[in-house]
Amino acid sequence: MNFDSFDLNPRLLANVAALGYTAPTPIQEQAIPPVALGRDVMGLAQTGTGKTAAFLLPIINKLLDAPIEARPKIKALIVAPTRELAQQIADASRDLTRQTKIRTITIYGGVALSPQTRNLHAGAHIVVACPGRLLDHIGQGHVDLTNLTTLVLDEADHMFDMGFLPDIKKILSHLPKERQTLLFSATMPGDIRRLAQEILRNPATVSIGRSAPADTVSHAAYPVRADLKTALLLNLIGGAKDGSVLVFTRTKHRAKRLAGQLERAGHKATSLQGNLSQRQRQAALDGFRDGAFRVLVATDIAARGIDVTRVAHVVNYDIPDTPEAYTHRIGRTGRAERTGQAHSLITGEDMAIIRAIERLIGKPLPRVTLEDFDYDAPVTERDVDAPRAPFYPRGAGAPGNRAGARPGARQGERQNTGRSSFGQNRPGSGGQGRPQSRPQSGRYAGNSSSSAA
Ligand code: AMP
Repeated sequence: MNFDSFDLNPRLLANVAALGYTAPTPIQEQAIPPVALGRDVMGLAQTGTGKTAAFLLPIINKLLDAPIEARPKIKALIVAPTRELAQQIADASRDLTRQTKIRTITIYGGVALSPQTRNLHAGAHIVVACPGRLLDHIGQGHVDLTNLTTLVLDEADHMFDMGFLPDIKKILSHLPKERQTLLFSATMPGDIRRLAQEILRNPATVSIGRSAPADTVSHAAYPVRADLKTALLLNLIGGAKDGSVLVFTRTKHRAKRLAGQLERAGHKATSLQGNLSQRQRQAALDGFRDGAFRVLVATDIAARGIDVTRVAHVVNYDIPDTPEAYTHRIGRTGRAERTGQAHSLITGEDMAIIRAIERLIGKPLPRVTLEDFDYDAPVTERDVDAPRAPFYPRGAGAPGNRAGARPGARQGERQNTGRSSFGQNRPGSGGQGRPQSRPQSGRYAGNSSSSAA
């Protein structure tokens, strides 16, 4: 299938071609026809599947069919949970509307109100907005939504997680009842199901991969003492020459601290966390995209929706709280048919969530131990908010130096004992690839005191 079969405006087709899209992704194949027919759509698709273009293409196509107005009126409103996601959607919209008269503007917090007010007064066809700031503008009478024909709620599950439901309901009360509504979500918890029943009319449901991660991602779990996580991460990163690395931590404090540790250890690293100004966040993201930073350390909230297509490795420095969050995190790798790897540093406390993740992905996470890593290194400095008890009691045996009974391993479970780590689990092998020898000895192997400091 190619894009010609959607009967799109030639200008739009040219813009699609300029972006290098040769064939529609599965979510685009499924969603574009019903959206183009004007139907409501419930789209179950994770980030990285091409869902943005799946809703933008038919919306833009319809706008291109309409007569040009002197001052554009808002026809499509796209609501997204974070400013990064809103910005990415707006960027995609501007790319797809090049050399047309379609105008896209963004509305989100953390930046001055007045330029957005001016943009709203100048008029736009497509508004991409975060809920809170949009309500501010609505409250001040800056937004005329009476001509709206299409509403998109993107990453609806995240909007719920972030407590935006009351805001969404308020926004809905300002929209025309006669409209097309598209709801996109990576997961379908009860709250989303109820919202869908409430606001969608006879929707077409399109679903890609449910909430399971892309097949192009391989997984590995590294049992390790909590206080050795940083040293192990340094070993992993040092062993992989190529590819960008997105590291997730539980708190913004840890993200900042860890990025600093990586930087001091000689890596081009930065952090994306809630304490940054909008300008700093953008600089971190741009630097990661263009390769100025190879490693980005982020919290879940800060990283929501970030669109970085070339992430080779996602590392769960701290395991996420839910299997869905695991899926979201590793959605940043293996995108658009590229292969990627998901690495999780796990401690004894993580076993319940690991089992839940294994149920979701339908296979065990292969446990990997590193031959050249000193799992028995003395406790030097503990991560400030790491679990108190080290996972391996000193002298009680650690991975790599005792056959059988490896921490975190289950009976009968196959394990890898690898010299190297990144790169050893090939997609398609179920993550159980043979360990490869690493061309260089681990820079930080057995040197946790300096690397963890
Ligand atoms: P999304 O899931 O919308 O965040 O898209 C993920 C990435 O896939 C983005 O970088 C898009 O530019 C890219 N993409 C979207 N559609 C296609 C396509 N048909 N072919 C190749 N890449 C695409």
